[in-house]
Amino acid sequence: MLQEKSLNEALATISLRSIDGQETYPAGQVRYLSDSGALLDVWHDLDTLRSQVSRALFDQRVRSAPGPQVDPVTASGVWRYRELILPAPTHTIISRPEGNTPLYEHPCLSEWVGVDQLYLKHEGENPTGSFKDRGMTVGVTQAMIMSAQAVACASTGNTSASMAAYAARAGLPAFIFIPAGKIAAGKLAQALAYGAHTLQINGDFDDAMRLVQQVCNELGIYLLNSLNPFRLEGQKSIVFEILQGFNWQPPDWIVLPGGNLGNTAAFGKALYEAHELGLINTLPRLATIQAEGASPFYQSSLTGFSERKSVKAHTIATAISIGNPVSYERAVRALRWTNGVTISVTDEEIMNAKALIDSTGIGCEPASGASVAGARKLVDNGTIASDETVVGILTGNLLKDPTATVDYHTGNWPNAKLANRPIVLEPTLSAVQKEIEKRLARAH
Ligand SMILES: *Cc1c(COP(=O)(O)O)cnc(C)c1O
Repeated sequence: MLQEKSLNEALATISLRSIDGQETYPAGQVRYLSDSGALLDVWHDLDTLRSQVSRALFDQRVRSAPGPQVDPVTASGVWRYRELILPAPTHTIISRPEGNTPLYEHPCLSEWVGVDQLYLKHEGENPTGSFKDRGMTVGVTQAMIMSAQAVACASTGNTSASMAAYAARAGLPAFIFIPAGKIAAGKLAQALAYGAHTLQINGDFDDAMRLVQQVCNELGIYLLNSLNPFRLEGQKSIVFEILQGFNWQPPDWIVLPGGNLGNTAAFGKALYEAHELGLINTLPRLATIQAEGASPFYQSSLTGFSERKSVKAHTIATAISIGNPVSYERAVRALRWTNGVTISVTDEEIMNAKALIDSTGIGCEPASGASVAGARKLVDNGTIASDETVVGILTGNLLKDPTATVDYHTGNWPNAKLANRPIVLEPTLSAVQKEIEKRLARAH
């Protein structure tokens, strides 16, 4: 258990604030909503921070050589920005370490999307294979600071995989609520392997989400869904890393998939804060891409967000198969702050984009294909100009959902334009030789 002093020290400069700014609570209070039921933000005192942080401070931490003892402030792409995220004392931090993900480029991809400069930030190359690690390192650290007895979440898969790993590192019991039969194999494998108590609910994600909130309130377990504002603070570091990677000269667009909209919310807050703090002078525009069968945010945008829609979600991209997104209001605010847009793409477009990303050797899970499919659609409809710089977010690793990938390539997916079918051959040298010669001839 932590001493009172380090707790006060960690949380003194931040507070919990309702999204409308009307209600404020101490950051050490366990709560996920305001008294009137509004979403909460972790609020930093930006006026104080302005004199404490600078581009130079963050740049110098990147250059520090890794020592024998891992210091999360220099080793993690999240804790490098700790002042802007959670000013936790270093010894309380539970880190793998996460972040420092690559920005990939490939001419095939920029050509297909229709822009000169397309970069893909691969969040699937985090320790457990998704961007959720960036939020979870902060959420689990906060759980430790507050001496939580256990942590819980509802999940379409990656949140549970990540929470299970970080809870195991912290020695905390983890309870995950998953919709039965709707979790990709790689993600379920991780949750089980990392030792989480795995509760399969006969219902969809939205049922699991409702239940876990009730259970956390009843039993005093710390909730680590993206409702929890500390997770979103960690996810802001994706944007900080992009900005720093571009030497603080922001790209024109950041394009990302949207499910529960936690990332959209975090990206908007990160850009707002970076701009307020003078780390950047211009704001990139955000584009949130939803799957057509799970597009309540996009459908709400058609009413200018005057009406909040919810749907029964259905898409091959299980990570964004969400009908009633938790961070809806925060995401609306993110689009307003950044002059952002939202659109939807079909599962067919998602899987063909994914297959192209995979074929370049980069690879991602289905939901991530939405970033590239969405960028292409926004170029097609004239929203993104071909001379603008676009960063797409690949949210999850190729190995997360092997079933979707194998189905695509083996004829179990309609209009699989880039299917790479396995070749069945007799076990003779001549059969193999003939086939290889035929293929080599075709390749030249
Ligand atoms: C969680 C997740 C998403 C959706 O992010 P939200 O913050 O819920 O909008 C997209 N892709 C992958 C791989 C994810 O794990």
